[in-house]
Amino acid sequence: MKNTAVYPGTFDPVTNGHLDIIKRASFMFDNVIVAVLINQSKKPIFSVQERIEHLKECTKDIKNVQVTSFEGLLVDFMRANDAKVAIRGLRAVSDFEYEFQLAHTNRALYNEMETVFLMPSAKYTYLTSSMVREAYSLGGKLKDVMPAMAEEALIKKFSKK
Ligand code: ADP
Repeated sequence: MKNTAVYPGTFDPVTNGHLDIIKRASFMFDNVIVAVLINQSKKPIFSVQERIEHLKECTKDIKNVQVTSFEGLLVDFMRANDAKVAIRGLRAVSDFEYEFQLAHTNRALYNEMETVFLMPSAKYTYLTSSMVREAYSLGGKLKDVMPAMAEEALIKKFSKK
C-alpha cells in the first residue's frame, strides 16, 4: 500500500521554508500531496490557481510530489485521497499552540490520522508568508526566501496596486 501524506496550507506565497518541508516529506513518504486551502476569508494576495502554479513550478523536479487545492475539512480531503498523514512545519515555539490545537481537532475528526511535524533548516525558522507579503508590499526585497517565480509574481502584484 502506498503511503500518502498531505501537506496543507495557504502558501501565499510559497516560501523556501515550505519548500524545505516538502523536500523532507518527499524522502519519507511514497506520495506527498501539497494541498492549497481555498479560504477566501484570509483575503490572499495570490489566487488559488496562481499558488498552485508557483508550487508546481518549484516542485517539478520532485517526482513524488503533486499539487492541488481543497475546500472544506482537511480530514475529508485526506479520506478522499486515502491519506493518513498530515504534514505541518514547526518553526519556533510560537507555532506550537496553534499546531497543537489543529492536530488534536483533526484527530477528533479522524482518529486514524497522524500529524507529522517537520522542522525546516534553521535559516528558514524565522520565515513567514505574512512577513514576506508585508516586506514586498512596502517595496522591500529579501534574499533567499522564496522561489524566483513567486518573487517575480509578488513584485508584479504589488506594482499594480
Ligand atoms: P498557515 O497554515 O498558518 O496559513 P501556511 O499555510 O503558510 O501557514 O503554512 C503551512 C504550513 O507550513 C504550516 O504548518 C506552517 O507552520 C508551515 N510553514 C510555514 N512557513 C514555514 C517555514 N518557514 N518553515 C517551515 N514550515 C513553515
